[in-house]
Amino acid sequence: MTKFAHLGLAEPLVRALEAKGYVTPTPIQEQAIPTVLEGTDLLGIAQTGTGKTAAFVLPSIQRLVEAGKRVLPTHCRMLVLAPTRELASQIADSAREYGKFSRISVATVFGGTSINKNRQDMSRGVDILVATPGRLLDLVEQRFVTLSLIETLVLDEADQMLDLGFIHALKKIVRMVPRDRQTLFFSATMPASIRELADQFLRNPSTVSIRPAATTAERVDQYATFVNQSEKQALLTMTLSDPAIERALVFTRTKHGADRVVRLLGGNGIAAAAIHGNKSQANREKALAAFKSGEVRILVATDIAARGIDVSGVSHVVNFEIPNVPEQYVHRIGRTARAGAAGIAISFVADDERPYLRDIEKVTRQKVPLRALPEGFLAEAARLTSARAKAIGNDPAPREERPRGPRGVRPPRATHAAAPTAGGHRGRSGPGGGGRRRGGRGGQGGARTSAAG
Ligand code: AMP
Repeated sequence: MTKFAHLGLAEPLVRALEAKGYVTPTPIQEQAIPTVLEGTDLLGIAQTGTGKTAAFVLPSIQRLVEAGKRVLPTHCRMLVLAPTRELASQIADSAREYGKFSRISVATVFGGTSINKNRQDMSRGVDILVATPGRLLDLVEQRFVTLSLIETLVLDEADQMLDLGFIHALKKIVRMVPRDRQTLFFSATMPASIRELADQFLRNPSTVSIRPAATTAERVDQYATFVNQSEKQALLTMTLSDPAIERALVFTRTKHGADRVVRLLGGNGIAAAAIHGNKSQANREKALAAFKSGEVRILVATDIAARGIDVSGVSHVVNFEIPNVPEQYVHRIGRTARAGAAGIAISFVADDERPYLRDIEKVTRQKVPLRALPEGFLAEAARLTSARAKAIGNDPAPREERPRGPRGVRPPRATHAAAPTAGGHRGRSGPGGGGRRRGGRGGQGGARTSAAG
């Protein structure tokens, strides 16, 4: 008997897991599967990457099969709500795979796709519907989807749904779902607002807490480099040119920023793709597929778009901009170091982002070691600035010689001094900055600061 069968899972599910090569249940699967099989409500405090999708999908499929009810047109029997299209389609893919020997139908409904297609998919009804709240409500209002026969309701990444402003949609949806149902509620963090929501939606739930979000960082080697905002592009190019980087996820705060980074990298001969909310669904899927297949090794993403994406083999996460919400940092770096693998997270910190770094350190209760700017950084930054100036039709030559730096590059400040290198930028430290932290946290000569765990 396999370890999954021991948890009470039926043969068709165990077979599907074998086909996927899963041998051992993850901790959340071990704890959640027996509880969900019993029909108990569940409050799961866990992030993507812990195996939580299988933890709720597997026992739910089993319950649906055992209940044996027929699905009626426009109805679904299990509804999974997720914050983003990527996460929704990933959950649906997993459900199809886990349920492939169980005769379970799965459909998705999310914005950015044709509403007519959604309508068609739902016309005969479906066992499992995975949806984002906004599009689902549209379809319910147009009577293309009916929620009155739902047996299982799942809210996945509840904290993110709240952050995205889905609170009213969620409450509205829950009011349409039968009271007599099983509810499974997952969130990576548990602030008061989420606990309140969980109290409203769940009845006598069992709680499974895999690990506080703030400590997921343990397996990721992290470091930060202080750099002027205008020189981050040069640092990114240099960082990503390192052959040790197999597959990197680069985070920007804005969609516009993500596109700019992709253009910049392209201009420097580094192929990258972007995913964010302004891209069409087809575009996002194409970018994700190219990244998964290894066709491009750099994916640039905003927090929302990357939330929940599951790509194995991400060797590096680069925070081109530091998130201003510390939990986002934890989510970001959690994209690497999956399934026991080690990962590296690099943060580029401009002067005005230093308070964010301090907040992150408070929340994670870890100091992020500093790493110096790489050797030759200044020359590279100047080269890129010059190339950029040429590209926009300026003649950069005279500016390069100006002592205060070319247009678009701020005069040097203490930023460089905080993480001194042996040669590269010594001459550029601002007045009084050169020795301020020398020998301090920054490390030496561009050498790798040993990364803390
Ligand atoms: P999730 O947290 O649901 O996004 O899952 C994270 C990743 O772990 C996905 O790629 C799953 O396919 C994979 N996974 C889930 N459960 C197991 C398991 N028991 N053994 C190996 N991989 C798993």
